[in-house]
Amino acid sequence: MQTDHIEKIVIVGGGTAGWVAAAALSKMLPDKIRITLIESDAIRTVGVGEATIPQIRRLNGMLGLDENEFVSETNGTFKLGIEFNNWGQLGDSYLHTFGDAGINLSNLHFHQYWLRHHAEGGTGSLWDYSLHHKAAYAHKFGRLERVGNTSMTGLAYAYHFDAGRYAAYLRKKAEATGVTRIEGKVEGVQLAPDTGHIKSLKLENGDTLEGDLFIDCSGFRALLIGQALDVEYRDWSHWLPCNRAVAVGCKTSSPLLPYTKATAHEAGWQWRIPLQHRTGNGHVFCDSFISEDEAVETLLKNLDAPALGEPKPLRFTTGRREKFWHKNCVSLGLSSGFLEPLESTSIHLIQSNVSKLIELFPTRAFDESHEAEYNRQVSNEYDLIRDFLILHYHQTQRDDSEFWRYCANMDVPDSLTAKMELFENTGLLYRNPEDLFRESSWVQVMLGQGLHPKQYHAMADRISSDQLARFMSDVQTIIGRATDPLPSHQDFIETQCKAALQ
Ligand SMILES: Cc1cc2nc3c(=O)[nH]c(=O)nc-3n(C[C@H](O)[C@H](O)[C@H](O)COP(=O)(O)OP(=O)(O)OC[C@H]3O[C@@H](n4cnc5c(N)ncnc54)[C@H](O)[C@@H]3O)c2cc1C
Repeated sequence: MQTDHIEKIVIVGGGTAGWVAAAALSKMLPDKIRITLIESDAIRTVGVGEATIPQIRRLNGMLGLDENEFVSETNGTFKLGIEFNNWGQLGDSYLHTFGDAGINLSNLHFHQYWLRHHAEGGTGSLWDYSLHHKAAYAHKFGRLERVGNTSMTGLAYAYHFDAGRYAAYLRKKAEATGVTRIEGKVEGVQLAPDTGHIKSLKLENGDTLEGDLFIDCSGFRALLIGQALDVEYRDWSHWLPCNRAVAVGCKTSSPLLPYTKATAHEAGWQWRIPLQHRTGNGHVFCDSFISEDEAVETLLKNLDAPALGEPKPLRFTTGRREKFWHKNCVSLGLSSGFLEPLESTSIHLIQSNVSKLIELFPTRAFDESHEAEYNRQVSNEYDLIRDFLILHYHQTQRDDSEFWRYCANMDVPDSLTAKMELFENTGLLYRNPEDLFRESSWVQVMLGQGLHPKQYHAMADRISSDQLARFMSDVQTIIGRATDPLPSHQDFIETQCKAALQ
């Protein structure tokens, strides 16, 4: 059989995207494929991606990483969800947890039983039935696969980590599996005149680097996919208007929280990410509504402890490329798009797209149908995440600032309007099978930000009021029993994965 297999892969960029790609491709592809990564020490990485979602554990599993070592090497902590403050209204707070509330009964989502309970005068929130909520606010964490002998799954979790250390950790793994790293700056890109494919890269020191497949991990510069191949960027800032951030660390504080905080301000929001050696903070904002000086002042005013250094400014445009694979180039990370950090989806998109690339790995023929399928899948994933993020801004009752009035009144994609209307009118949610976020995530954000359904599903009436009351109370008992024996998050880290270097 004649094969036309790729022999040389060149990755441009050594930020999170570059090293995730290098580690995953070198682990999964045959050794005979040579992988070279070029990065420039003179061009800094973004380096503020510190919060993740549970899907990262799949990548870690694929790479064969030991979890305790990984957390220790990256000064990491565990994350059960994100606490959203001041989003629906000033003073509101809810936790978007990584788990389902309660237990589904007869294939009906638990929130439908809770809606009925509520309609019959029951008090308390959906989160009173959430294992994750209970553990998070007790500052507890443990590896809990299942809850007793029930059908309730245990704690789904992700990590907070130091992005610089994460890239360094993956670099060690990638180099151990044969990736060659070159320190240098790419100055030019040579295209083949007949096909328009990338033929080689010209480096600052005069060297030329040839390859079959080029992976653009050059960050917002988008050196290959944008600058050389001219693939357009679809700007979504009319829906996701934040376009700047200022980030700064501060000393850690006790207790060590197993969740991220996202606190809405006048024209954006502030993250708080607890690590072992410091707390990461950043104010994401829209510069049409406030200045950078105002953003810095708000950030510093809302830290737990004095800042460790000067706030670092960052600029971005929310959106995505029209295509992510074009000719013999695939873009990963910030070169392919940025939806803003609200739900910690960027590192996930890198991993998910590397997995898709491995699954749909090209040959040197670079067949157009191959490219089209990859682009369809990745575009779809971006578009679905986009809707979920817009929901956070649009579903608000805040009218205390121009920014929030804009968000509440802006036109949103029809796909999102349909979802919100269905939930409000019926309590139902239909999830696109390719959507990263599950029903339970959509329900938590909608309820958490004040979108309360008018109805509950008829099937919830299959049990009597007494049975319903017992069921609700049993769920709480089960959750309490599962949470009580868990260690504190701090103790768990001290005993299992304390950072080697603080
Ligand atoms: C404000 C903010 C907050 C964020 N928070 C989160 C979060 O909490 N969770 C999350 O998942 N993600 C987050 N992200 C996104 C996350 O930071 C990125 O997805 C991640 O860092 C990947 O970046 P990257 O590797 O694509 O680009 P970069 O980190 O910018 O790396 C680019 C690389 O390209 C190299 N390079 C560029 N030009 C050249 C050249 N000419 N020659 C050679 N090398 C070159 C650079 O040296 C560098 O190594 C956040 C992003 C921002 C802006």
